Amino acid sequence: EQEQPPAASILGDTRVSFIGAGKMAEAIMSGVLRSGRVTSDRVMACDPNQSRRSELKDKYEVAVTNDNAAALEGADIVMLAVKPQTMSRLFQQLQGKVNKNTLIISVVAGYTIDQIQRGLGTDAVIRAMPNTPALIQESVTCWTVSPTVTQAQRLQARELLKTFGKEIYLAEEEKMDMATALAGSGPAMCHLMLEAMIDTGVHMGVPRETARDMVLNTMRGAVNLTLQSGGAHPSTLRNDITSPGGTTAAALYEIERGGLRTVMSDAIWAAYRRSRELG
Ligand code: NAD
Repeated sequence: EQEQPPAASILGDTRVSFIGAGKMAEAIMSGVLRSGRVTSDRVMACDPNQSRRSELKDKYEVAVTNDNAAALEGADIVMLAVKPQTMSRLFQQLQGKVNKNTLIISVVAGYTIDQIQRGLGTDAVIRAMPNTPALIQESVTCWTVSPTVTQAQRLQARELLKTFGKEIYLAEEEKMDMATALAGSGPAMCHLMLEAMIDTGVHMGVPRETARDMVLNTMRGAVNLTLQSGGAHPSTLRNDITSPGGTTAAALYEIERGGLRTVMSDAIWAAYRRSRELG
């Protein structure tokens, strides 16, 4: 394995600016600061919304501004976290103003590396797709880079993304739409399944709090068991707990009859197609 500098020194005195300081930016900022790898005096948040700026200033003691160009100044890494519909305005404001050594990391859904490079007039661009568990440092963040991003910048980016969860590097940018469908939209699909299970518990007569406790911890247990099974296929674990003539077999029969497998597949494909349409 290639020898790498220790994690702390990779981010060292890196300065990070956020352009767009909404929900996703805050999730990332809180992870970055909690990790202690980047201190608040090296972080700046830029947002046109005044109350948002004072909120983040109070909560995280970061510098704030409503001037995007000021946020670019002196930043080693600039996180773009505005809504996709804001990007064309941002491009107008920032075209040609980005320092060549500044690394841009965009979490904006649907915008390709090429579009961002042309829009900003700069080469070093990383595209990342986090998901909402970033709020608790459990994001799954898929990312891909332009060939012009240096090895040192890649290491920096990886270290930064790790501060708010797991990072998964994708060599091909085309896979980002698949990552958006599986991981980006994934939490919502999981929430819906949890909701269905909890509500059924309530329907049967289990108090809601108890049903919630049972279902959430069961889901977590099943995920952890799968993670710790040495790469076992989920069907193996499922077969292990399906006794002949038992309750699980009865449940699985209904799940297959209802087409859950193809419903899930269709849902993820639909998210994938939608992601491609938006891009
Ligand atoms: P948000 O609306 O909470 O945040 C966007 C922020 O941008 C707002 O605070 C807004 O005031 C600010 N803004 C508007 N115009 C601006 C400008 N010209 N310059 C600077 N800031 C400006 O949205 P969000 O949920 O944080 O999403 C931000 C991005 O993150 C989106 O592009 C989305 O695709 C991406 N993303 C979100 C999620 C998610 O689950 N929320 C997951 C992955 C990626």
